[in-house]
Amino acid sequence: MTNQTVKIGVLALQGAVSEHLRSLERAGAEAVSVKRTEQLDGLDGLVIPGGESTTIGKLMRKYGFIERVREFSEAGRPIFGTCAGLIVLAKEIEGQEEPHLGLMDMKVARNAFGRQRESFETDLPIKGIEQPVRAVFIRAPLIREIGEGVEVLATYNEEMVTAREGHLLVSSFHPELTDDYRLHEYFAGMVREFKSGAAKG
Ligand code: GLN
Repeated sequence: MTNQTVKIGVLALQGAVSEHLRSLERAGAEAVSVKRTEQLDGLDGLVIPGGESTTIGKLMRKYGFIERVREFSEAGRPIFGTCAGLIVLAKEIEGQEEPHLGLMDMKVARNAFGRQRESFETDLPIKGIEQPVRAVFIRAPLIREIGEGVEVLATYNEEMVTAREGHLLVSSFHPELTDDYRLHEYFAGMVREFKSGAAKG
């Protein structure tokens, strides 16, 4: 069952979409760009890309994605949020009253590296992946606090930058901007697991 095809959407309202599609395909998934809520029905998993979280959140509200993605998540379907996508998934955003999706039990800070480290690359060891992953950080957020169900998969300078809560996966960095698609492979694995579980009923 491990090689069954999974269909993963990339939310294409704003941000880095085509690079995610390419990495997902390399990871063996069928990848589609998602612009309308109806497209969610045929998907096994969803990526919320990097970009500008306020813009992505605003467009999600405008086009009815907030409720629909919450339902998608309630059904146990895996969601992977990268950079701005991590912020969109968080239950709490520092200095902001309302979250966007508010699904993952964590508090996050936007643009947490300050001006000096606005954008940089590093080799990041990630739990569950054998060798360090090439990670590109761009005006990246950090995870400040996590709930009990959240497992930290990677830290950078002792700060949390990759985490998982059941079917939800997040990274502060952009895993789609390099040729290293192993985090997409990890996510595709989560989606396959969900799909084979769902098939068994
Ligand atoms: N700084 C952006 C935000 O707060 C995230 C940056 C990114 O996705 N590369 O939404």
